[in-house]
Amino acid sequence: MHALIQQLIERGPVVTDGAWGTELQARGLALGSFPEAWNLSHPDRVLEVAKAYIAAGSQIILTNTFSANRLRLAEAGMADRVGEINREGVKISHKATAGRALVFASMGPTGKLLMDGSVTPEEMKSAFEEQARALADAGADALVVETMSDLAEAELAVSAARSTGLPVVACMVFDSGKDKDRTMMGATPEQTAAALTAAGADVIGANCGQGIAGFVAICKRLRAATDRPIWLKANAGLPTLVDGRAIYNATPEDFARCAADLIKLGANFVGGCCGTRPDFIRAVSQRIQ
Ligand SMILES: [Zn+2]
Repeated sequence: MHALIQQLIERGPVVTDGAWGTELQARGLALGSFPEAWNLSHPDRVLEVAKAYIAAGSQIILTNTFSANRLRLAEAGMADRVGEINREGVKISHKATAGRALVFASMGPTGKLLMDGSVTPEEMKSAFEEQARALADAGADALVVETMSDLAEAELAVSAARSTGLPVVACMVFDSGKDKDRTMMGATPEQTAAALTAAGADVIGANCGQGIAGFVAICKRLRAATDRPIWLKANAGLPTLVDGRAIYNATPEDFARCAADLIKLGANFVGGCCGTRPDFIRAVSQRIQ
């Protein structure tokens, strides 16, 4: 295991951060626009979000770089700005931590499907390599491959991330099947743990897709399937749509209670995904200490 990850988990459970997109929307980001563009146009507002998570007790924060790969940015005509957007994302998060927390840089999916031939594995891997290199050059402490639905895409991203020499976290979305225990492509927690361990991920996990109560079964199964540390970021319950915006029903207290259960079941890193805000992270942090 990577020495940094070993050191972190030896000291006990680690609190990560919550959602960024909703926080940026609260600061004026238009629904449907690319949050990553704000690293260049509104770095001060991205910094505010990062600082809010540090103030809430995050020991690790991510970066506003989730969609900053060439294939996604091309949709916004920004494919030539991959390097800049990722480097600024890492700089902003580092500035917010002021040395009090680590910066794990976010790498999300390309939005393209391997299985329908709209992208080749080589194109996908080179897009992830370009992003991973920019994040590493800017000083990220680790890379987080997240919100993946296709194991084949996740494996390419892990392989690209590993080429930087940084620790790599890899997590999938379990939101499908009658028990919501499969990825969109049908992979189980056991299959994803085996594949991501074989791909060389240092930390394995799940994020997004469902509320935190559904993460209990997934946590148990991942824990039984791998000896790697486990990273979990659940949503704030189930969303209902109000005026085109998703409103989530969990309270910070509910969320923190469940997060403590996940730690008892063997999770090493806990935080939140869609709908979670700094007050969720504050509640988790207080509960764990
Ligand atoms: Zn999410």
